[in-house]
Amino acid sequence: MSLGYRSVEELEGAIVSCRACSRLVEYRENVKPRASYASQAYWRKPVPGFGDLKGKLLVLGLAPALHGGERTGRIFTGDASSRFLVAALHSAGFANQPVSESRDDGLVYKGCYITAAVKCVPPGDKPTRDEFDNCSRFLDVELSLLTNLEGVLALGSLAFKAYVSHLARGGADVKGMVFGHGLSYRVEGGPVVYAGYHPSPRNTNTGKLSMPMLVGLLRKIRRDLRI
Ligand code: SF4
Repeated sequence: MSLGYRSVEELEGAIVSCRACSRLVEYRENVKPRASYASQAYWRKPVPGFGDLKGKLLVLGLAPALHGGERTGRIFTGDASSRFLVAALHSAGFANQPVSESRDDGLVYKGCYITAAVKCVPPGDKPTRDEFDNCSRFLDVELSLLTNLEGVLALGSLAFKAYVSHLARGGADVKGMVFGHGLSYRVEGGPVVYAGYHPSPRNTNTGKLSMPMLVGLLRKIRRDLRI
C-alpha cells in the first residue's frame, strides 16, 4: 500500500467514511428512494471501487448512480447503466456473469477493476471542480494499487477528463488528448488510455452506444493488452 494507507480495507474505510464535500454528503444522505425500492435501505455513503486489483484494465466511470451504486453500495450495480456495462464485460470475458444487481449477487470481475472518479452521487450527475479535486486523492491511491495496469477505459467525457487530470498531476504530457468513442492514447510510462461512451440510458436508448459497439471496444482492449 502507499499514500498513507496500509491496506485496501483501510483505503475503503477512508472512502466510505469521507465527508469532505458538504454538498454531496447532504445529497447522498437525503436521496429519496424510488417507489420500487421503497422497502430497501439505501447505501447513502461514498462508493469505493470493486474488482480485480491484479487486473490489467481499469474501467473508470464518473460517479455512482442515484438508484444504482448509491442505493446498493457497489459501483455499477443495480441500475440500467450497470446492466448494460456488466453484460458487455461478461460478453468480452471480464465478468463471470452478465448481472450486477446487489453486493451479494456473486459478480466477480476477471482482469479488470472498476471505480468512479467521484465516489458520491452528485446532483444532476455533475460534480463541481472542487468535488473532482477533493476525490482525486482516492483515485490516485486506487491507481497506485493497480500495479499490473496496462489500460484505462474512461466511460464518458467527464471520466476521461478526470483521468487526464490524474495524468497531468503526475507530470504527463496530455496535449491533444480529446474524448471520442474508440479513441486511444499511448502515454509514456503509463497505461494506454481508451475513451468510450458511457452506457447510460441516454446513450443506449438512442443508439449512440450499442451493445456491439461496447463489446467490440472491450474485445479490442483485450487484444491490445493481451488479456
Ligand atoms: S466525493 Fe469523494 S471526497 Fe467528496 S465526500 Fe465523496 S468520497 Fe469524499
